[in-house]
Amino acid sequence: MTAPPAAAIPFFSPDLFEQDRDVLHGIVHAVGTCRDQKFILGERTARLERALAARTGAGDVVACSSGTSALSLVLAAMGVGPGDEVVVPAFGCAPLAATVIDAGARPVFADIDPVRLTADPAAAEPLITPRTRALMPAHMFSVMADMPAFRELADRHGLRLIEDSALAQGGTLRGRPAGRWGDAGLYSFVQVKPFGMPGEGGVVITDDAGLAADVRMLRNHGQDGVHRFVHHRIGQNSRFDEVMAAFQLHRLAGLDARLARRAEISAYYSRRFAPLAERGLIAPPEGGDGRFHYVYTVLTDDRDALHAHLAAHGVTAHVYYPRPLPAQPAFARYARPGETWPNAESAARRAISLPLYPNLTDAQAEHIADTVCAFTGVHGRTS
Ligand SMILES: *Cc1c(COP(=O)(O)O)cnc(C)c1O
Repeated sequence: MTAPPAAAIPFFSPDLFEQDRDVLHGIVHAVGTCRDQKFILGERTARLERALAARTGAGDVVACSSGTSALSLVLAAMGVGPGDEVVVPAFGCAPLAATVIDAGARPVFADIDPVRLTADPAAAEPLITPRTRALMPAHMFSVMADMPAFRELADRHGLRLIEDSALAQGGTLRGRPAGRWGDAGLYSFVQVKPFGMPGEGGVVITDDAGLAADVRMLRNHGQDGVHRFVHHRIGQNSRFDEVMAAFQLHRLAGLDARLARRAEISAYYSRRFAPLAERGLIAPPEGGDGRFHYVYTVLTDDRDALHAHLAAHGVTAHVYYPRPLPAQPAFARYARPGETWPNAESAARRAISLPLYPNLTDAQAEHIADTVCAFTGVHGRTS
């Protein structure tokens, strides 16, 4: 077993943008002293949108103020509102339920697939009613949701499909990028996401030109971008910052290398953890179709003991999420009486996520893997 590192290994990178500090200072100066004094939704934002459209092959990309806001804009553009239902995962992050409720609609919670930890299409189908307007699966941990099955389900029932790919940038399934399986997808640029930045932002991705035009209008108070102060729709303030757009254009060049480094560490963990399955620790498969590399999530019945063991050996882990969404105080009243989500409840008891970021060193990754392996040596089931 490797010696514990001198300082604890943080869950997220402690020096995300260290290499880019001088570039960022230069951008702040350039944007700040630019003659046109345009700080939002300018030419740099438009260039970033075009660059991401080219990269993903999407018909259109619309920058906005966060991943959460991207979900809200898409729901609004689709006309989801009071009386409507949207099927969301029972296990995931708060915006999945909150944005639907903010739109005036009702979230209907589908149980998850026990391996992917994403909404299970077979659990979603019986939840579809005449009120259902959209399905909103999310890629949450290390494996993409079963998008071919969701696409087929949405088409068969005439529903819109919103793909919450906020953290799955770089993932592909059957050669199709995460974000391009739904009628609309999105990426979040909050700092810890794969294409994170030192600020808030995100994009909507879609091939639907009408939807893109509506999102563009809604992100800036319902204006059409031509006639100022003519408001066609009740919009939102969800604009994008020119400093961040220039910074993201700069960082885009290194994105593939950073994604490759994440994939390399993730594959290393999977090789180290494969033998632990017989000791009750379930890790995602090595590489493969539909994988992406945001955080590295494993399942074990001894989750809390593993969490403490990691902390004692200088490794910071996170529990995403300690409760299913319908068990959250904010969302419990949207759950129907008697409904249960056994796989979501099991994941909430068993899931734990390990550090995974491009500037994690080989020695740190090895220490993390050693620490997990040593734990199962003591706590593993002897079957
Ligand atoms: C991060 C995230 C969001 C929200 O994005 P923000 O930019 O933080 O608002 C939504 N859905 C998923 C799956 C996310 O990971």
